Amino acid sequence: MGKHPPDHHCDSRSASLPKANASEDESETDSEESDVSGSDGDDTSWISWFCNLLGNEFFCDVDDDYIQDDFNLCGLSSQVPYYDYALDLILDVESHGDMFTEEQNELVESAAEMLYGLIHARYILTSKGMAAMLDKYKNYDFGRCPRVYCCGQPCLPVGQSDIPRATVKIYCPRCEDIYYPRSKYQGNIDGAYFGTTFPNLFLMAHGHLKPQKAIQSYVPRVFGYKIHKP
Ligand SMILES: [Zn+2]
Repeated sequence: MGKHPPDHHCDSRSASLPKANASEDESETDSEESDVSGSDGDDTSWISWFCNLLGNEFFCDVDDDYIQDDFNLCGLSSQVPYYDYALDLILDVESHGDMFTEEQNELVESAAEMLYGLIHARYILTSKGMAAMLDKYKNYDFGRCPRVYCCGQPCLPVGQSDIPRATVKIYCPRCEDIYYPRSKYQGNIDGAYFGTTFPNLFLMAHGHLKPQKAIQSYVPRVFGYKIHKP
């Protein structure tokens, strides 16, 4: 599923040398003369465009390298319709050009959003993805806990299922409860794009970010909320 090397139209230089195939290939890879192929005029990648859409603030940018590794996408082709087209769209590979109708383009576009979400759920469990989510957490991108006694505790996104079926919620590490996101746009995103294990793994990896327990035990006594499990 890599990008196509530009191999059809570069034979003018060595046209007079019929047996120069090997050196021709070499000079092509070395010079990289067509390094802007695939971006038709605007230099925004699909991924950064998608992550900057209103309501998509919870998503981090997934590395191209991660997406290009087939191993990381194992099993997703059976979950996402128009998988190959959706993957090409995410990676800015122009595979279908103008052959789709507007309706088909919309289907591929929504398939790409689903595919990106499912890849995202896997990516944020890797160390690189978790680092990207840490930056967002420190920036309060996932919102704060609405409970007064949590004193504006930053939250983490969480899904209640790993299969697309329920919208994303936010998890407060202080009171250990989950809430609807404040923005109605964020409220339309599927929780499976973040997964059920992300907050736990994140807080295990970043133990120093776990809020103080003294405050946790104070909250349950006053309001009768569950004390966190050991
Ligand atoms: Zn809270």
